Amino acid sequence: MGKEMAAQKAREVKEEIRQFVGQLRQKVYPEGHPEWGTSFSDIEELGVQIGDAVAREFTEQSVAGQAEAAAEREHRCPRCGGPVEARDPEPRPLLTRRGEIAWQEPQAYCGECRKAFFPSVAEFRHSG
Ligand SMILES: [Zn+2]
Repeated sequence: MGKEMAAQKAREVKEEIRQFVGQLRQKVYPEGHPEWGTSFSDIEELGVQIGDAVAREFTEQSVAGQAEAAAEREHRCPRCGGPVEARDPEPRPLLTRRGEIAWQEPQAYCGECRKAFFPSVAEFRHSG
């Protein structure tokens, strides 16, 4: 998905965002809006921080969901093609444009190759 497609998707959820922001305003401001005299930069700073937190949460959930789907699809070792067994997921920190996220990456183990791998990338890489 390119930038244009992402912009289109964002426009499609504009109404949901509007409602969600209404709920957030009720939560962060006792009156549902900043009290008179609150500076624009304070309002903007809160908006930016909430926006960044929403972006991180969206990315984290999406990446985790994608990896889980890949793990359900991939039941074969990428090296020998043999069957694999699921292992405990590995915490995976990731630096995004809006800050760091952490998600659980599904892991699989091949008894034949005696190696663990991550089905979401379908290749071996160092794992604990
Ligand atoms: Zn193998």
